[in-house]
This record gives sequence, structure tokens and C-alpha cells, in this order.
Amino acid sequence: MTTSASVPTEPEGAIRGGTVTDRLVDANERYASAFTDPGMDARPVLHVAVVACMDARLDLHAALGLELGDCHTIRNAGGVVTDDVIRSLTISQRALGTRSVVLIHHTGCGLETLTEDFRHDLEMEVGQRPAWAVESFRDVDQDVRQSMQRVRTSPFLLHTDDVRGFVFDVRTGLLREIDPT
Ligand SMILES: [Zn+2]
Repeated sequence: MTTSASVPTEPEGAIRGGTVTDRLVDANERYASAFTDPGMDARPVLHVAVVACMDARLDLHAALGLELGDCHTIRNAGGVVTDDVIRSLTISQRALGTRSVVLIHHTGCGLETLTEDFRHDLEMEVGQRPAWAVESFRDVDQDVRQSMQRVRTSPFLLHTDDVRGFVFDVRTGLLREIDPT
């Protein structure tokens, strides 16, 4: 397992004459040309915040039937409920009116292949220990339970009665709900 320096990179990420970011900017111009102001305010229509892994195979809006403006999406490596996720959820609930929290982890998560050695190796490589935990895990169901527990016990949140956790199967597209107990 590598930490960072040895990950192979394409020279300047060339894709058909431009970088990947150029490609995204081009796509945005097409998007904006067909875009009309939906006239929404910032409060999610469904009063829900979804915390999920950043995995590229998980299209949250498509998988959950969500439309523009419906929800807050908070994503990181693993969908881990870190202090920063609690920060976002606190703002989501207290300033922007969400009441429900949905947690989504998934099969084949990259964090299952890491250990906390990643952190040690990184420190050896760069000479500085990261302040964050890797939050790697072996049992995805247990990790979802841990995440639900962190949300439910946060003193900062207004609404902790509707917190549900799921594992998304990247092969079938189906969610499997995790019993919190
Ligand atoms: Zn993942």
C-alpha cells in the first residue's frame, strides 16, 4: 500500500488536448447554457442530510431519487462521521432546517484495504504526523453502526431521532439497512 508519493500520474492529466479540469469547465458551459434559475432558497426541500462515502461508483442523487435542492450531501473517504461532518450536520440542522440524517457506506470501500499503518507510513514519508485518524475498518456494518452512534450522541445536533444507516452495494445498486443495535 502506498501513501502518496508513489501513486502514478499522467503527465499533466492530459485528456484530448486539455486537462481533466478543462473538460469539466467545458461541461459546465454547456450546463449553464441550458440552466434556468430554479428560484430555491438554501434550505433542503426534504429536510434531510445524507452523509456518504466519496466513492465514484455511488451516484447519490440517482440512487436515492433525489432532485436538485432536495438534500444536503456531505461526503468524505468512507462516509465517516468526523468532527467536520458533525460541523456540517450542525449547520445543516440549526441554520438550514434539516431534521433527518441518512448515512451511506458501501461494499468494496477503499478504507477496508487500509489500516492505521497508513498514518504511520505517511508520517515516516513526510516527517509530520497527520492530526486525523484514517478511520479504516474491517466490518462495514459495524462501521455504519459506529457512524449512527456518533450522530445520535452528538450534543450539537437538534434532531437525532431520525438517523438511519445503510450499505450501498456497488454491484446491484441496492441499499441494505443496518440495524443500529
Ligand atoms: Zn468508500
